[in-house]
Amino acid sequence: MGKIKSVNPFSEQLLKEFESYSEDKLNEVLTLSEKAFKIWKEYSFEKRSSLFNKMARKLRDKKGFLSTLMTSEMGKPIKEAEAEVEKCAWVCEYYAENAEFFLKDDLIISDASESYVEYDPLGCILAIMPWNFPFWQVFRFAAPTIMAGNTGILKHASNVPQCSLAIQDLFEETGFPKGVFQSVLISGEETDRLIAHKTIKAVTLTGSEQAGVKVAASAGANLKKTVLELGGSDPFIVLKDANIDDAASWAVKARMVNNGQSCIAAKRFIVVDSVKNQFVQSMAKAVSALKLGDPLSPEIQVGPLARKDLAESLFDQVEKSISLGASVAVGGTPPVGAMFFPTILENVKPGMPAFDEELFGPVAAIISVPNEQEAIDLANQSKYGLGASIWTRDFEKGKVLARQIESGSVFINGMVKSDPRLPFGGVKLSGYGRELAAFGIREFVNIKSVWVK
Ligand code: NAP
Repeated sequence: MGKIKSVNPFSEQLLKEFESYSEDKLNEVLTLSEKAFKIWKEYSFEKRSSLFNKMARKLRDKKGFLSTLMTSEMGKPIKEAEAEVEKCAWVCEYYAENAEFFLKDDLIISDASESYVEYDPLGCILAIMPWNFPFWQVFRFAAPTIMAGNTGILKHASNVPQCSLAIQDLFEETGFPKGVFQSVLISGEETDRLIAHKTIKAVTLTGSEQAGVKVAASAGANLKKTVLELGGSDPFIVLKDANIDDAASWAVKARMVNNGQSCIAAKRFIVVDSVKNQFVQSMAKAVSALKLGDPLSPEIQVGPLARKDLAESLFDQVEKSISLGASVAVGGTPPVGAMFFPTILENVKPGMPAFDEELFGPVAAIISVPNEQEAIDLANQSKYGLGASIWTRDFEKGKVLARQIESGSVFINGMVKSDPRLPFGGVKLSGYGRELAAFGIREFVNIKSVWVK
């Protein structure tokens, strides 16, 4: 049993330290979750909705406190933390309004006098979550899963224990029955025993590909379903008929959001040769003007990465790419503590980490291509398949190309984002299963056929 530490990545100050949960404490959590499930599954949709609407109000009331907590623990710019709290309120309201409709019985004509499908809750679902959107990732799981009548246990990333406990507090303060949602403070390596426990009926993980492999193997050994939302290296494809300055301005947002630490951040900028110089110049100007510093200051646009070791390993990927032939258009200097200076790399090619791997920080990789077909081929030459965007004035062409892209979403003339109304997830090593919309709420239910003679 170790310590779980909350450290401000900008000041490097230790904020709080927690003991990792003991075996006894974990057993208490599991027992309570089991008890809470028996009560919660009998709640009507109306009662569940009323609690989630109340949760949305509480999130907004506590926005200042919650966003400061997030920014202090993992370094995202405070304005983005506030927007994250608002988005959590939105997903609570969205499922409060739509869950009953998404899960209503589906009548099906068969040889029966009556036959239909009903969607029953499964029980306790374990969520293993990352630090990058420490509230959004959790609410994106919790709102649909709990509206469906399940209970949830959250094992959050070890560097955001205060966010993890604050979310449990929110559920309790809102008036959810005790045990419907609980947080546990344990490390990734200690999670196996939870996955194996009979109370846990299924597991969802948002995180890296490496964690995905381990969690899926562990869940598979216990024959439990998983949903995996893993990494990405999203292509941002700029065609010669695009509005280049508009695309470049969105490119900066799409790459720098959350200090560059978003699974759906645009990472590989695949640009047709004839417009490459204009695109890079426009992007470089905007990147050089970004305000860096203490993310608690409202004017700051780029803060530190969430941990110093993450900044160091990102710099390794940049250095390796340069040694293999990439050139620096902006930045490229070593990090200071967890502060990583926004960087644009040009002449990026397959075989370099900036092309082959996920760069989880403010580094844009520019890849130039002679034509559209090459752009699509390179976009698909990735082990990941989370999101993609295509920039063109020809919407119809954009739609034809979208179909050729191997990813869970394609945005035409817009940056990839998650939205409660649209399913979210990936293919290839970006994972499987879907969150959000009707698809998300049906991941953790028993799809039961009922047949009446
Ligand atoms: P991570 O290191 O994989 O951690 C994610 C979660 O998994 C944490 O709670 C971590 O716990 C846990 N974990 C790590 N190893 C584990 C193991 N062997 N068994 C069980 N749990 C384990 O990822 P991260 O650095 O926090 O997040 C960045 C990654 O998440 C990126 O690859 C990013 O693209 C991806 N991501 C994907 C999505 C999506 O929706 N597809 C969204 C956001 C982020 P500890 O902290 O205790 O190790």
